[in-house]
Amino acid sequence: MLKKEFKRKDVQRARNLITGKTGASTGTQIGYNKKTEDYKEGDVWTEGRKTWTIKNGIKQTVSKLDAIKKEVYIPLSCPCCGKIMKKRLDKPNYKIHKKCFDCVVEFEHKLRIRGEYDDYKKKLVTKNSLDIVNEMESYLLDAINTSNSSFVSEDGVIEKWTGGVSKKEWSQKVKEASQTRREHLEKELNDKEGTKGTN
Ligand SMILES: [Zn+2]
Repeated sequence: MLKKEFKRKDVQRARNLITGKTGASTGTQIGYNKKTEDYKEGDVWTEGRKTWTIKNGIKQTVSKLDAIKKEVYIPLSCPCCGKIMKKRLDKPNYKIHKKCFDCVVEFEHKLRIRGEYDDYKKKLVTKNSLDIVNEMESYLLDAINTSNSSFVSEDGVIEKWTGGVSKKEWSQKVKEASQTRREHLEKELNDKEGTKGTN
């Protein structure tokens, strides 16, 4: 029995190496009968009533992907100064700040003069983490509730579970974990004001 498990784990590990998923978990969970199906970046397939794809290593519905596309849609000119955004650095800066690179430089320069730059940068990182938590939460909840028999790991592997998994239980776990992280991050944002004690 132990020998068999060990062997299967090794096969999975070799498969992960071949497919480039070196960070993927190869552990076998007791009590679950797990079957894996591999999809790679850019694949589009139907599961349940939804169409899925893998983008940046994360499985998501195609309609969700469209919404994300809209979100990162770059207008022709900067909403702040009105100049055409054609520089290489305009695009990545617009995604974060909703203005062109020159406007960001100018804005951050003003903050530096006022001695507020470090604080602003820290807040930006924290806000970005909050966005990621929110995205991951809705992605996971979506994955859990789409099908009762499959779960998708971060590296795009669909893990089919038979028995023992309750949608409700998993949803609750995801919500709890997300909420804990959110509270921590929000606290970090609010504590920036100054003299709040430890923790
Ligand atoms: Zn601008």
